[in-house]
Amino acid sequence: MAVEGLEQYRKAGKIASQARQFGVGLIKIGASLSDVTEQIEQKILSLGGELAFPTQISLNEIAAHYCSTPEDKSVFKEDDLVKLDVGVHVDGYVADTAVTIDLSKDHKHDKIIKTSKEALQKAISIVKPGIKTREIGKAIQEIVTSQGFAPVRNLGGHGVGRFMIHGPPAIPNYDNGDNSMIEEGMVFAIEPFVSAGAGIVYERENANVFMMTGMKPVRNMMTRSVMKEIDKFKGLPFTERWLVRAGLSVPKINFALNEIDNLGILKKFPPLPDKNKGLVSQAEHTLIVTKDGCEVTTE
Ligand code: MN
Ligand code: MN
Repeated sequence: MAVEGLEQYRKAGKIASQARQFGVGLIKIGASLSDVTEQIEQKILSLGGELAFPTQISLNEIAAHYCSTPEDKSVFKEDDLVKLDVGVHVDGYVADTAVTIDLSKDHKHDKIIKTSKEALQKAISIVKPGIKTREIGKAIQEIVTSQGFAPVRNLGGHGVGRFMIHGPPAIPNYDNGDNSMIEEGMVFAIEPFVSAGAGIVYERENANVFMMTGMKPVRNMMTRSVMKEIDKFKGLPFTERWLVRAGLSVPKINFALNEIDNLGILKKFPPLPDKNKGLVSQAEHTLIVTKDGCEVTTE
């Protein structure tokens, strides 16, 4: 299989999988979200990986993109349905994986979690060269709706590449009519989101996942020093905590992010709740398409 970066993809996948499992062990009632997030990211670094995007822990009706700020005081509560989403890269080659955890005492979220896992397994089982992306979406949709849930239609899987998190092919969570064909050597994530509500998410306020989409000349020294740090993330998404880790103060970071935003080169990824406040579960793996199937890197 001639895939550029094959060994790096595999290594990133292994580290992402270990970090995900490590994170599952930390997510307990009373634990702090920012603590757990920080520990998972440190684990990735200690295993020899780099952060492909900020570790995200989204609760209940938030499907994705919640990321602790440095001052986040929130803790896990009983009955929380917790999505943990982890991104690792090795030399730029990305692995993206997610899992959902049930913090209820009576396993009340069993069914929705099981549904996202089964949809993911089914989707993985049919991936091979020649299959259409809509067929993967259809397989996900069938399992999800058969359990009385809705697939989240405006979120989906995506190709990954070197220093790239979201590229083609787009892998829908339903049959969207897209006849794009899967080819050998493609690397992408599949991520069924299962909703007990609308199956549509919208963008809430207060993003804490960002991406700088270009460079522009800036006069202000403070903003320049922050941009210099952001530049080290090589175009990948980042979060405020990483800039604090680099030694910058929160007021300085906020000032600079605001200025970068005003320049029109800051892309924001705000938390994504279900439109009807339905609970959302997610399962995600990254895979490489082989001659007659696929190799899951994040198993
Ligand atoms: Mn993910
Ligand atoms: Mn993803």
